[in-house]
Formats: sequence, C-alpha cells, structure tokens
Amino acid sequence: MKIKFSEKTDKIIKNLALEAKNFGVKIYFVGGLVRDIIMGIEPLDVDILVEGNAIDFISSLDFVDIKSVHKDFGTIKTQIEGIEIDFASTRKEFYPLSGCLPEVVELGCSIEDDLIRRDFTINAIALEILADGNYRLIDKFSGCHDIKNKTLKVLHKNSYIDDPTRILRGLDFKLRFNFDFSENDKELINEYLKSPSREGLSVDRVILTLNKLFSSNLRAKEAFREFVDKKYYRILFDNKDLSCKKIFDAIEKFKIEDYSKVIIKYILDEPFDVPELKTRFEIYKYFKQFDADEICVYYTNTKDERALLYFSKLKDIKLNIKGSDLLNLGYKEGKLIGFMLDKVLEAKLEENSSVLNFNDEIEFVKKNTIL
Ligand code: ATP
Repeated sequence: MKIKFSEKTDKIIKNLALEAKNFGVKIYFVGGLVRDIIMGIEPLDVDILVEGNAIDFISSLDFVDIKSVHKDFGTIKTQIEGIEIDFASTRKEFYPLSGCLPEVVELGCSIEDDLIRRDFTINAIALEILADGNYRLIDKFSGCHDIKNKTLKVLHKNSYIDDPTRILRGLDFKLRFNFDFSENDKELINEYLKSPSREGLSVDRVILTLNKLFSSNLRAKEAFREFVDKKYYRILFDNKDLSCKKIFDAIEKFKIEDYSKVIIKYILDEPFDVPELKTRFEIYKYFKQFDADEICVYYTNTKDERALLYFSKLKDIKLNIKGSDLLNLGYKEGKLIGFMLDKVLEAKLEENSSVLNFNDEIEFVKKNTIL
C-alpha cells in the first residue's frame, strides 16, 4: 500500500518505524487516518498509535520535540523536523455507566484490544508501519468491506449504550461520506433511543460531538433535520419540541454565520420570557444585552417580532454625539448627560425619525434642553 505523505514526512515515519523496532514496540496508523487513506482522501494529520507505552518510546528519542504529555491516556504531542505528530498508547477502555467518559483500564494493551474500543468498523482498521517502509493491514472487523459498501457498523451490540455520541458521529460520517447505518445498527439505535439512561451521561462530550456534527454549514440543515426526525435529541431529553424549518428560517433572518453554535443553543437552552416593552427604545435597551445567537434562538422559540425589529432595524442605530458634545453645549458633568443622551437615542430610534446625523442630534439637544 502506498500512502501519499510528503517526502519529509515519509522519511520521518520510516525512521520512527526503525526506532520502534529497536525499542521493541510496534507502531500503527489507525482510525480516521486509515479510513481516509482507503477512501483515497489525502491524510492531513499524522497520528501514530504505539502498541505499548507511547510516552516511554518517544522520550527515548533525541530528535523529537515534545509539546505536551497526557499521562493518564498515554498520549503525547510532538514536533519532528517541524511536522506535528501525535502519538497515543494502545488502551483498553471501560464504560461504568451509559454515556459517561470511559475509564482507561489498561495502557499499552494489544492492538486488537485497542481496536475493539473504537466506534465503527470503518474506524477500526490499523496499518502496522514496518521498518522496511511497508505496511501491514489489520482489519479484524472487515472495515475495508464496510467502507466499500458504505456501511456504518459498530463493533458490539452495547456500543451505542456505552457511548451514544457514536450515533451522532455515525450521522456525521453518513452525511460526509454518503454512508448509511447497517440495518442492525438502525435497530440498535432505536432500541437505545427507546429508553436511554442519562444518569452518567457526559453532556460535554455530547455537545462536543454536536459541534462537530453541525460544524459544516453545508450539511448542518440535513444533520439537524435527521437529528430531529430520528429523535436523536433523546440522547439528552425525553422530549424536545424542535423544528428544523423554524431554526433555519431564523438563521437566515438573523444572518447567522456559525450555524453550529445557534443550533446547539436551540437544542439546549430553555425558552425564556421577555417582559412587556412599550417603545422601540425599550426594545432596544432590552435586547442589547443578548448576542445575535441568543436573539435568533429566542425568535425561533417565540416568533416575537420585537426581536426581529431590534435585530433588523434598531441594533445598528448609534449616536454620533458624545458626552463631550453636551459639555460644549453647557451641560455639567453628571447624570443629566447620560439622561439627555438616552433622550436623543430614543428620538433617533423612533420610526421615520428626523434625527439622523450629528447635526440633527445637536439640534434635538438644543430644542429639548433640560438645562
Ligand atoms: P474525522 O477526524 O475525519 O472526523 P476521525 O474518525 O479521525 O474522523 P476523531 O474524532 O479524530 O475522528 O477520532 C479518531 C479515532 O478515534 C476514530 O477513528 C475512532 O477510531 C476513535 N474514536 C473517536 N471517537 C470515538 C468514540 N466516541 N467511540 C469510539 N471510538 C472513537
């Protein structure tokens, strides 16, 4: 198998394979990197799995610049001749509760035990990097066959129960690569969604996965539609009233650039009430405290036109005059200046206001002076 790395990266990898042999460990490419290589996608990052302790191995090499070390997970970030390479130790994991972060039960386990903790067969293929520059394929779960058939299959029947974020990762792969869950996986997911246990659920991990799922604006709508239609929100809640149309209409109206943040806010946040606001000035003052994402989600939940009015007509209206201009007009330092500036802003915010520019504002102050 040929892998298209740069000449420099190729040389580093060959050297690492020789060093690994001398040190007495085997090294591998695994996971998304191998999946991408098999799919003909050019690898971007270089991650290497060490069957053994990656930290011990890497620490023994004098040409590696160590950037950070995570002892509990046996991972180590490095730079070699300016190229970033992450190393991980093989590990066995255990999920004490559904959806919690896994506990590492053995660092430096066999490659087989490391592969079995992974999400899908397509991500559980390894390539051993041999010292002679060749690779040896390890495909215990027929991941290559599943890549060819564009099928997503977990490795064991409790996989979605252990980690329901795999449902979301699967959806991401489905949309990115045009894959589909196997029939058995669809059943396993449905079974899980009927009665998810959320006692130990790592909500942070779910949010991270959602962030990745919705990170491409191109696929976010499709991803969210499926998230709602297939009731994947049940990973987090028994029930949640979510509308793909409503949130995407609002995203358009509010010209949101980062869809992911808004969608996640819509999924997680509880709708809130806005008090009675009589004037455009009151609307302006109230909504000013929220950012565009919050207002977009509020509007999605309520269709409150005041939010849209604020966002589309009021939020960019600013005064040209400053306190110093009022001092020049004879005002003294103090509360009156703030009060007067608010009065001018209130007038400027009115529909069809004649207060438009600096001169209008000065004229308004002169006419309505409270000195
Ligand atoms: P990409 O980066 O292209 O989205 P990836 O599969 O490399 O895809 P990562 O999140 O970087 O995504 O994960 C690296 C590897 O770690 C995966 O290929 C998989 O083998 C394993 N992995 C990641 N998340 C999980 C999970 N929740 N459960 C089991 N294994 C996982």
